[in-house]
Amino acid sequence: MQNLINETRLKNLLIELIKIDSLSRKERDVAMRLKREMEELEATVEIDDAGEKVGGNVGNLIAHFPGNKTSARPLLLSAHMDTVVPGEGIVPVLDGDILRSDGTTVLGGDDKSGVAIICEVLRVVKENKLPCSDLDVVFTICEEAGLIGAKCLDPNRLRARTGLVLDSDSVGFLFTKAPAANRMEFRIHGLEAHAGVCPEKGISAVKVTAEGVAHMRLGRIDHETTANIGVIEGGMAVNIVPNLVVLKGEARSHSSEKLEEQTQHMLRCLQEAAAGHVLEFDGQRFFARIEAKIDRDYDRMDVSDQAPIVQLVQAAAKNLNVEIKTTATGGGCDANVLNQKGLEVANLSTGMRDIHTVKEWLDLKDLYLSAQMVLEIVRLNAVNH
Ligand SMILES: [Zn+2]
Repeated sequence: MQNLINETRLKNLLIELIKIDSLSRKERDVAMRLKREMEELEATVEIDDAGEKVGGNVGNLIAHFPGNKTSARPLLLSAHMDTVVPGEGIVPVLDGDILRSDGTTVLGGDDKSGVAIICEVLRVVKENKLPCSDLDVVFTICEEAGLIGAKCLDPNRLRARTGLVLDSDSVGFLFTKAPAANRMEFRIHGLEAHAGVCPEKGISAVKVTAEGVAHMRLGRIDHETTANIGVIEGGMAVNIVPNLVVLKGEARSHSSEKLEEQTQHMLRCLQEAAAGHVLEFDGQRFFARIEAKIDRDYDRMDVSDQAPIVQLVQAAAKNLNVEIKTTATGGGCDANVLNQKGLEVANLSTGMRDIHTVKEWLDLKDLYLSAQMVLEIVRLNAVNH
């Protein structure tokens, strides 16, 4: 099959986008560049109010492309505009086909690679007048800040009910399953007292916390469940029995029941530890107590191998003689949120590697192949109808 992707143009756009700073909540410059790009391709562009809602300087960018095969199912193509820290003043370094940063920042191929692929595919569709359904393009903000751009997206602004997120580092894989996650904040309350004068009138929140955490199952719980306590803060001074510790943690699971069970287990460990610390003096009873704030971070994603979008990806892979395997990821991405909003969306790899580190790199050959895949997916989606 003829490769219509203009690799040089794709590479140049990727490098240009990488050089535009776009930390979460500061995506405005890259959004304006992409707005221009989309308008040049004759899309109708809108920017939603997600920026105001999350305290950022721009919202999600939504571009509607009128297709020439309106009988075909509209398709969503999505990638996120923001990057993680350290991600300002990124200097991309090209070494053959390998693109990396200068080692002081991330590369930002996560997810500028997905963004660049979508732009290139649309350019190719337009300049070759390829068959194409209506396309909705969504470039989200704040994916790295907890998927909050996608969470603010109104699905009624989209015509598509199925499509792809291009935001994965596993080359040759299509993410169709991802865990649900709970975010937890526990406030462990003790009782303040002078540590030298009257420690018997104090309940150490540090001790309660230590006992509770020591009993927690953490790390990898089973093949589909993980848990972590990631932040611990508390105490005022070495001579004060501490009355407050704040613990922050998370749990993730591909099973909703196991997620609930693990979350309750973590809470229960702290409650049981607290129950062991009761004091009585001056005719009063004092006890340690646990305040828990548990939020669903995102729901799980579970797209069937038989789903039309997965079948479409597989058909395109076959036409290009490449193998794509569906798989589960341990992380969450915008696709979790979009599936939760009633769309059927899988996450395709773009060639990015070692993401969220200053060693992040990308093999341009993978990027080009991924672009070819997306182009073939768009084409097949149109001609199959
Ligand atoms: Zn990403």
